Amino acid sequence: MPIHVLSNSLASRIAAGEVIERPASVVKELVENSLDAAATRIDITVEGGGLRLIRVVDNGSGIPRDEISLAFERFATSKIDEDSDLDDIKSMGFRGEALPSIASVAHVEAVSRQPDAEAGAKFEIRFGEAQPASPAGAPVGTSMSVEHLFRNVPARLKFTSSPTGESTRIHEVISGLALARPEVAFSLTIDGKSRLSTPGNGDPREVIAALYGRDVASAMIPLAPDDSSPFRASGLVSSPSTSRGNRRYITLAVNGRLVQNRRISFAIEQAYHGYLPERRFPIAVVYIEAPFEDIDVNVHPAKAEVRFLREQLIFGLVQQTVRAALAEMAPVHRVAPHPGQNQQGSPNEQAGTVGERRLFEEAAWPTANGATATANGTDSTAQNGENEAAPHQNTYRDVLPVLRVIGQSQDTYIIAEGPDGLYLIDQHAAHERVLYERVTKQFADHAAEVQPLLEPETIELSPPHFTELVAHADDLAAAGFTTEPFGDRAVLLRAVPSMLATSGRSGREALIGLLDGVAEGRQTGWWAERMLATIACHSAIRAGRTVKTDEARALIRQLEECEQPRTCPHGRPTMVHLTTGTLEREFGRR
Ligand code: ADP
Ligand code: MG
Repeated sequence: MPIHVLSNSLASRIAAGEVIERPASVVKELVENSLDAAATRIDITVEGGGLRLIRVVDNGSGIPRDEISLAFERFATSKIDEDSDLDDIKSMGFRGEALPSIASVAHVEAVSRQPDAEAGAKFEIRFGEAQPASPAGAPVGTSMSVEHLFRNVPARLKFTSSPTGESTRIHEVISGLALARPEVAFSLTIDGKSRLSTPGNGDPREVIAALYGRDVASAMIPLAPDDSSPFRASGLVSSPSTSRGNRRYITLAVNGRLVQNRRISFAIEQAYHGYLPERRFPIAVVYIEAPFEDIDVNVHPAKAEVRFLREQLIFGLVQQTVRAALAEMAPVHRVAPHPGQNQQGSPNEQAGTVGERRLFEEAAWPTANGATATANGTDSTAQNGENEAAPHQNTYRDVLPVLRVIGQSQDTYIIAEGPDGLYLIDQHAAHERVLYERVTKQFADHAAEVQPLLEPETIELSPPHFTELVAHADDLAAAGFTTEPFGDRAVLLRAVPSMLATSGRSGREALIGLLDGVAEGRQTGWWAERMLATIACHSAIRAGRTVKTDEARALIRQLEECEQPRTCPHGRPTMVHLTTGTLEREFGRR
């Protein structure tokens, strides 16, 4: 084949492959155009996962009548010219490729009117074939309708997932953009159902309320940016009482643009160390402002990955700002006081005690002789009494309503009733949480309860296990495991944490379980955390054991006392809540 220049339509379709990977990319491009046109309201309608219809309507500056067809030409843009600095984040992704790319793989109808124009214009283009523009009555702003997406590129269609899957991605894209731009009112309707609506009043908390609910929003903690610096991080981060099972709830905006940056997201996660259990992640929306010359815009047409010249600086800034906000926050939640329990000081008096929660900071680590053997046979009342006096009690916590135990199901779940519906509680996970908080507190207070063994046990270990154990003998001792090297690959186990002994479980099994977990990297987090979680896990009642009502009641009372009663130390839920509303709906009462 002789060398030849590709036709415009073929070139557009090739470019479309890069820019428009799936329906969500179309939505993102169209909404970003609306944002660039200074819209304050953007309404998005999606049908059939975006393959049937995507419509984005804005109230922005509109497109001049005589330019509307030009907007669909390749490399046609009103946003940059010969004099523009192409490294500037403001010109990110402005290559004039989105509209022609979309139009080459779909039917597009554009209707637009500028504020002072008396009439608008309508322009239609089907798989790259344009009709002449015509005058049309229209409200101020632009409406872009995209139908039959990818119908002329069957290969692309094959790579799209189910309509539900694509709708979910679209929902995620709009959620991110709405968080990045709280001053813009967004609405998203999917298959006739309203899925999101934000007020556009500039308050990110309102966007979070629309996305994740009022409770989550009101517990979000504001970041305090340093206004004197050219580098600033502002926004909202979740309180430790609210967390998620994956890291998708971290949103980053740099100089007003929604971006992704793994390292910065990780900096936010790390700031929660010691505040969240293993494998729990925060909800965060962080607005970073930085001088344009410090930002390296890696202009991938579809993904907004951004790099910073001084990444360490931004990393540190974000981490410190988040950490400071967590340390500053006032403890707002209180467990409803139980009869006989004294109400403590007002929330304001309790402020500043949150530092207690940072049990795992290097400096707070106890030494080997920190472990003190206290009397055995603790019952839960004595334990609670102790907690009550300790400052530990004043830390930030999640609130559980008072629950009334009804019974047990499948020897595994406790059924309870609360003021707002039914609760199914996983007895093992719940007990694990209770014991984890107890053993963690004892560890931090250098007050592990220890049960000496009548007969010391010899445990043979593999060489890596042996090394690991010897290296952490101090922590183990502080938690109640008294070990002693016995030859070069065995240890003598002289004492175990009392809760293990009380549960009748073997100290040897718990130790080996811990070492296996560490070796296989199954457990994440710091050594001390893993160790404490393993002790709790091995000591907790198992699933499949019959629990008497009294026993269940005691467990629920202890769970109510916990800082984080809704998750086990590994981040799995301890309970499922069937709200009164859900029950009413399920039974068709509402
Ligand atoms: P780019 O955004 O890179 O400039 P596009 O192909 O996305 O390229 O859009 C081409 C041009 O069409 C834009 O530069 C802008 O002038 C105009 N345009 C597109 N969408 C809108 C809109 N919603 N409101 C106003 N102008 C728009
Ligand atoms: Mg664009």
